[in-house]
Amino acid sequence: MFIPRFYSQDMKYDVAIIGSGIVGLSTAFHLSEKHSDLKIAVIDKFHTFAQGNTGKSAAGFRDVFSSDTSFKLSSSSIRFYDHVQKILGIDLGMKHVGYLFLMDNDSGSDVMEEIGRKTKIEEVDLDALESMGISIKPDTEVKEAMGLEDIHRAYLAHNAGIMEPDKIAAFYHSQCVNRNIEFLFDTEVQSLNLVPKKPLNYPGEPFIWQDKTIGSIKTSRGEISADTFILATDVWTNFLTDPVGIDSHIRPKKRQLFKIRNEFIEDVVGKKVLATESFPFTVFPKGVYVRPSPGEKTFWAGVADDIGRDFSFVEDPEAEPQFYTYNVYQVLQAYMKPITSASITGMWAGYYSYNTIDGNPYIFRDLNLIVATGTSGSGIMKGDAIGRVVAALYDGEEKAKLYDGMRINTADLGVKNRKVEEEKLVL
Ligand SMILES: Cc1cc2nc3c(=O)[nH]c(=O)nc-3n(C[C@H](O)[C@H](O)[C@H](O)COP(=O)(O)OP(=O)(O)OC[C@H]3O[C@@H](n4cnc5c(N)ncnc54)[C@H](O)[C@@H]3O)c2cc1C
Repeated sequence: MFIPRFYSQDMKYDVAIIGSGIVGLSTAFHLSEKHSDLKIAVIDKFHTFAQGNTGKSAAGFRDVFSSDTSFKLSSSSIRFYDHVQKILGIDLGMKHVGYLFLMDNDSGSDVMEEIGRKTKIEEVDLDALESMGISIKPDTEVKEAMGLEDIHRAYLAHNAGIMEPDKIAAFYHSQCVNRNIEFLFDTEVQSLNLVPKKPLNYPGEPFIWQDKTIGSIKTSRGEISADTFILATDVWTNFLTDPVGIDSHIRPKKRQLFKIRNEFIEDVVGKKVLATESFPFTVFPKGVYVRPSPGEKTFWAGVADDIGRDFSFVEDPEAEPQFYTYNVYQVLQAYMKPITSASITGMWAGYYSYNTIDGNPYIFRDLNLIVATGTSGSGIMKGDAIGRVVAALYDGEEKAKLYDGMRINTADLGVKNRKVEEEKLVL
């Protein structure tokens, strides 16, 4: 029988990080790298780490982003993960299979040309797509009925591919355990307790004229105190920040993935095509993508649908097979006929914590609370850098130094003095 342990009233930490997804883990790791003496706890409602959206992602990585901020966050994180895998010899499941972008309009091509000044992107000869089962000209009736266009350009991004987020999370977790960071799993944080810094013990405190602080958090296992609280709670952030009047500026957007398989996929998924070691992560017109999973011999198909997809939230979202059939599949089969007979062998759904204004993360401080959310569908490939920015913000540093030496102004990702360009490539 599982008997929950209740926390004693004197549980007090220097830093309590809520959330053990990639953001919470990377933050804990980088904080402990800077301050080996800090008493840190990582708290999660799930029974272990990486059970939230980190475990539900399409597990793709790329440094192909239109905004400089996204580029810096992703390229430095990719370089760090490469270091862990290649130099430290810890397998993170990273495979540089590339991202192939199939363009049906000039504005998309312009964005690619611009990004090509920052990272290696190569224009691919359209004839080469045939060997991948891709037809650049959908059938005329299909094109007319669906309003599709011919593919007229294709770009292969090289610093991109697939990875295994559970392995990245396990790497950070083991490093944290070695540094004596405490993990409090099966512990739901129910509220942030806003209190006056100098309590007078009148009912109704804190009053507007009192200086305030988050004194403790109420959890399913008792109260926990800390000097600083860090919310790495992704799409759940608003549940904790709304009641204390802090706006986290994100909205939930449901995202789904469908594993598909047939003989064609089994055959092509691990094949060396174009310049990559196996089939690349491929983005079709209308944003529909297939993520190769060579080990399983499947494709994972998905799309970041926008208008028409509401902002509602349920704790355990389910994938909708009819969404695949009437949306994702229709686009795929128009451009990739051999997948027509593929069947769904698995599916799941999660959420993007979506920054609907500029598609970049929010990392800000209010009182003794630091919030890191709004990863907008690319939190794993940016996870290492986000942890470094949070650690720099904790130290009050103006600039965070990323793994590759690039620097980023911590305030740029905040709210009040935010300075980031809109990210056009949220997939
Ligand atoms: C379908 C899909 C595809 C995606 N594809 C990609 C991709 O290809 N590449 C990529 O980089 N990113 C991708 N993402 C996005 C990526 O998964 C997220 O950006 C990333 O996982 C966010 O990490 P996180 O640590 O902020 O959140 P999470 O991993 O969700 O972690 C948040 C944690 O906080 C905990 N928590 C929340 N509230 C409480 C509370 N009150 N008390 C206790 N614990 C709490 C949760 O239990 C959870 O473990 C995808 C996401 C989805 C859904």
